[in-house]
Amino acid sequence: MRIGIIGGGAAGFFSAITMAENNDSHNIVILEKSQNTLSKVRVSGGGRCNVTNALTDQKEFVKNYPRGSKELLSVFSKFSNADTIQWFKEKGVTLKTEQDGRVFPETNDSQTIINLFNKLVSRYGVDVLTGFDVNEVSIKDNKFVVKDRKGNTLYFDKLLVSCGGFSTIDKYKWIEKLGHTIVPPVPSLFTFNCKDILLKDLQGISVKKAGVKIKGTKLYSNGDLLITHWGFSGPAILKLSAFGARTLSDLNYKFTIEICWTDADVSKIVDITRNNNSLKHIIKHPLCGIPVRLWESFILNSGIKPEKRYNELSKKDAETIKNILTKSEFKITGKSTFKEEFVTAGGVSLKEIDFRTMESKAVRELFFAGEIIDIDGVTGGFNFQSAWSTGYVAGCGICNKNI
Ligand SMILES: Cc1cc2nc3c(=O)[nH]c(=O)nc-3n(C[C@H](O)[C@H](O)[C@H](O)COP(=O)(O)OP(=O)(O)OC[C@H]3O[C@@H](n4cnc5c(N)ncnc54)[C@H](O)[C@@H]3O)c2cc1C
Repeated sequence: MRIGIIGGGAAGFFSAITMAENNDSHNIVILEKSQNTLSKVRVSGGGRCNVTNALTDQKEFVKNYPRGSKELLSVFSKFSNADTIQWFKEKGVTLKTEQDGRVFPETNDSQTIINLFNKLVSRYGVDVLTGFDVNEVSIKDNKFVVKDRKGNTLYFDKLLVSCGGFSTIDKYKWIEKLGHTIVPPVPSLFTFNCKDILLKDLQGISVKKAGVKIKGTKLYSNGDLLITHWGFSGPAILKLSAFGARTLSDLNYKFTIEICWTDADVSKIVDITRNNNSLKHIIKHPLCGIPVRLWESFILNSGIKPEKRYNELSKKDAETIKNILTKSEFKITGKSTFKEEFVTAGGVSLKEIDFRTMESKAVRELFFAGEIIDIDGVTGGFNFQSAWSTGYVAGCGICNKNI
């Protein structure tokens, strides 16, 4: 049995190793277009590789996937994040969990993961062919005929497509020609650009438990919010960019957000402070845990005289402060990448894959794994988990192993 794997990334390697461990008589070949395999693993997590997330409740875990959560619930029942951690441990790589749940190799070095994968594929005799940029796949006499851009041709009995996500639909043409529907790709995981005067010189300030709404839509998220040189970042924004990937693309990344800067009872706190007849200067004494510099910017841009004390606050001033704290509006003018990390929303339609084996419902013996599928997660190790799990299930599916 000759098995071809298109794409030498996270999903492709994990699947190749799974196949080799299930059946040592198969001839497995990884086809990689560039000169280097596993290049995203290398740069991932700032060079540390955030391999997965330690969240234990699987129903909560899949809520971190704007697309594919239902399908992944079944995939994770066969190979979960806990299985991933165990898998690496059994192979000699110890992982550690950080406070926020992100899991990294104890070495803090993605090279540890790459070394392990390379060692295993070499031990199992998996062939790795670099510089093989697949641009056509057809079927003849029950064999997959795989051609690259240079005109080389290879033949396989079974084929796994694990070539990651692409930014433009034309790059998916050869998969479409095989009989698959491609959900048009749009970027996910990005930060918001904003030039509002209120944010001037505030880069680096972060606020915990902010709520962010995208006006005119139902998109809402809460969590930490970070002010950057160019606008907004942090978990609350990244989550919005992921769950709103398609809507925000349709809006051409121009929209208005409304921020509630705290989860405290703003109205009550402002009224109590005002009624207490406090002699404290408003500008120097932030309410609701707002960082001092951000608070100063709020007051200086609010129209309230900055020298006022709390006991001099008019009813109108109090309303102004309540509004700033609970519904500040900002015009977003575009997007930027987040630490160069991004994923593609879109890809091979979920409806056309049997998630028990990752086999195509349209073409027998054709399998998919990783970001090529219309699945993507938020930041925190969720994208690699999807790559390992779909890669594992595909590896078992290809070897006809029941799991
Ligand atoms: C900078 C960065 C940091 C990231 N950090 C993290 C992180 O810490 N944790 C996390 O969970 N996720 C992270 N991600 C997301 C994660 O890297 C991807 O979701 C994951 O790599 C997807 O795995 P994959 O195997 O499907 O695709 P990839 O890893 O992209 O691998 C696909 C491979 O296929 C090859 N290929 C493409 N087309 C062809 C073709 N036609 N013929 C042959 N080969 C082809 C590509 O060159 C590539 O090597 C990060 C992403 C980026 C960009």
